[in-house]
Amino acid sequence: MLRYSIAKLADKPKGTKIELPAVDVRLSAEKQYYTALRSMLTQIASMTRESIIPLYQSEQEQKRAARAYTGDADRSWFGGLQALANQLQRIASNTVNRILDLEAERHTEAFMATAKRALGINLQAVVSQEDLAEYLQAAVARNTSLIQSLADDVVKRVEQTVYASSIAGNSVTTLRKSLQEQFGITDRRARLIARDQTSKLNSDLNRIRQQQAGVTSYSWLTSHDERVRPRHRSLDGNTYKWGEATGAENGLPPGQPINCRCLARGIVEF
Ligand SMILES: [Zn+2]
Repeated sequence: MLRYSIAKLADKPKGTKIELPAVDVRLSAEKQYYTALRSMLTQIASMTRESIIPLYQSEQEQKRAARAYTGDADRSWFGGLQALANQLQRIASNTVNRILDLEAERHTEAFMATAKRALGINLQAVVSQEDLAEYLQAAVARNTSLIQSLADDVVKRVEQTVYASSIAGNSVTTLRKSLQEQFGITDRRARLIARDQTSKLNSDLNRIRQQQAGVTSYSWLTSHDERVRPRHRSLDGNTYKWGEATGAENGLPPGQPINCRCLARGIVEF
């Protein structure tokens, strides 16, 4: 990564301070991310309905008929579901990794546009997509691992729900309802991952591009709407140095605390 001084390139009178417009999260990326996860969860849910519920149903019928021995729910019921989840998790991860790549490209363009707008300079010669390769590799690993644990979690939830229902002798209708609740939980988790990871990506990219340009401090910018948490509202307009603890949760910079939509506006000092 080529490090450069954006202040030197822009050449303004000494003592001038200019804030770069912040590059915001793109909501369509969050939506695409969530869609990839939802598609994975929906297919796991439908296989559960098509292959596991019928097994449970016949188990319950046999129990009612009081035959001598009937097989209770066991691990063999879930092998196919786990295999499907593994396969779907790889597909979802690939889709998400493409989204991260595209977002990084979009961010590079947007960052260059902010420099042009605020300072009238062209960064084409000093900024490139390759600058982000190392970071993206780490981001891809982080996202892949989150998606993998989401897939494993849903299979585990199905398995535990079926066992618990079987032991309690619940009806198929009750089992369906319990599974629906579990799928609701994993869907909310998928939504949170999509929102949180796109926001973290954007926040990381803002920091990387600013630090690359020799920008050492930033001002905290909230979304200025009713959803901003009071703690972050009180930080709006504060100036921090990159790497310095902020007043947010764990001293994190904007966009890093869970569900945080705040942004860092880089301050270019001449
Ligand atoms: Zn925030």
